Amino acid sequence: MTDRDYQERLLLLIPSNSYRVAGFMDATHRLGVDVAVGSNQRQVLEAFTDGRTVTINFQDLEKGVLEICAYAEDYPLRAILGVDEETTVLAAKASKALGLSHNAPESVEVTLNKFRFRTALANSGLLMPPFSLLSIDANPNWAAREATYPCVLKPLMLSASRGVIRADNPDEFITAFHRITRILKQPDVVAMGEAAKHILVEGYISGREVALEGLLNGGRLTVLALFDKPDPLEGPFFEETIYITPSRLPKSGQKRVIDATVQAVAALGLKDGPIHAELRLNEEGPWVIEVGARSIGGLCARALRFGTGISLEKLVLNHVLGLPIEPMVREDMAAGVMMIPIPQAGVLEAVSGLEAAQGVAGVDDVTITIAVGQEIVPLPEGNKYLGFIFARCDSPEAVEKALRASHHCLQFQIEFKGRS
Ligand code: ADP
Ligand code: CA
Ligand code: CA
Repeated sequence: MTDRDYQERLLLLIPSNSYRVAGFMDATHRLGVDVAVGSNQRQVLEAFTDGRTVTINFQDLEKGVLEICAYAEDYPLRAILGVDEETTVLAAKASKALGLSHNAPESVEVTLNKFRFRTALANSGLLMPPFSLLSIDANPNWAAREATYPCVLKPLMLSASRGVIRADNPDEFITAFHRITRILKQPDVVAMGEAAKHILVEGYISGREVALEGLLNGGRLTVLALFDKPDPLEGPFFEETIYITPSRLPKSGQKRVIDATVQAVAALGLKDGPIHAELRLNEEGPWVIEVGARSIGGLCARALRFGTGISLEKLVLNHVLGLPIEPMVREDMAAGVMMIPIPQAGVLEAVSGLEAAQGVAGVDDVTITIAVGQEIVPLPEGNKYLGFIFARCDSPEAVEKALRASHHCLQFQIEFKGRS
């Protein structure tokens, strides 16, 4: 056997702090190709990958592309997949450099900057709230006077609703502006560069919110799941909680959501791979909030099973490898996940009621993802999930009931620590 007798490899780019390591590593079993993991911190992933890790610069895209190309000289790559938002652009750029099929890097970049995203959709014919860009060095008083209310202020590049704040009047606008500015000055955020120097202001869109999980194949969208978000999301902060599929929206409403997503994806120029879109639906129609060129975040993908029990991650891997994708039909059961709300700031001292929460009929699993002893930070500053509850039942109503009953069993003991 010579050095070159390797099978072509799949390279997964996974940030060390990703919630999706296990989900994607599980999906690589019996895949029929060699898998390597590129990450920004070697030691974290070594345990999962049997030495097949390569350290890649995720922050400096040019360096990252060069590192991936150098790796590909030794181990020819068949495909590169970026797991999580942090790595989707790098995956697209490196794929392009190596001549592998992938979304255009520019299209992926646009999904990661909320101002560029709104601008890209401005002439698409889709419903759009008014929007404008505000420098964090500007005096917000003038913008606060000019704004129409209610509105939403948000960072351009953060996720999981971090820093997203509703304002109903100029006072709230100014308070929100300063609060977001403080978030944007945290070192991890400053490292994002130019985008961290601005805030997007957009009109508040009322209505019911849904999330669409889909897979693009040569520009054609297959809807994998449409989730309702039954908890009201009216602000001032927008903590994600319950996602349930299938949607209880009437078929006509579902169609409007899907059509709007198709239109948005076309305007963005996305062609291949997973998408996760969020929309609101009201009397005027469907409003696109966000489209990500990635699959659903956190551990939420665990709520989805396709065909004979295939995971979302497996579908995504098969797609990027160009392997045949078995019927992409979700199982018959209704399914849902609750991202457990963070009750207050402090240090997590204890969690009780887990067994009872897990024992609720219909509940598949309850996972706490913040370790005892760690600090928990609520929105709008926080960026970690406290945990997840998963349920599957005969109907969406039953799933919602099971998730709420399970959540009710949990108690979190949180010690408030004054700011030092
Ligand atoms: P992130 O990338 O952090 O998820 P989003 O832009 O998706 O940021 O905003 C997070 C949540 O805030 C949305 O899911 C929605 O509930 C709410 N939200 C954001 N923008 C608006 C808006 N213009 N009108 C009403 N709600 C909004
Ligand atoms: Ca986002
Ligand atoms: Ca979002």
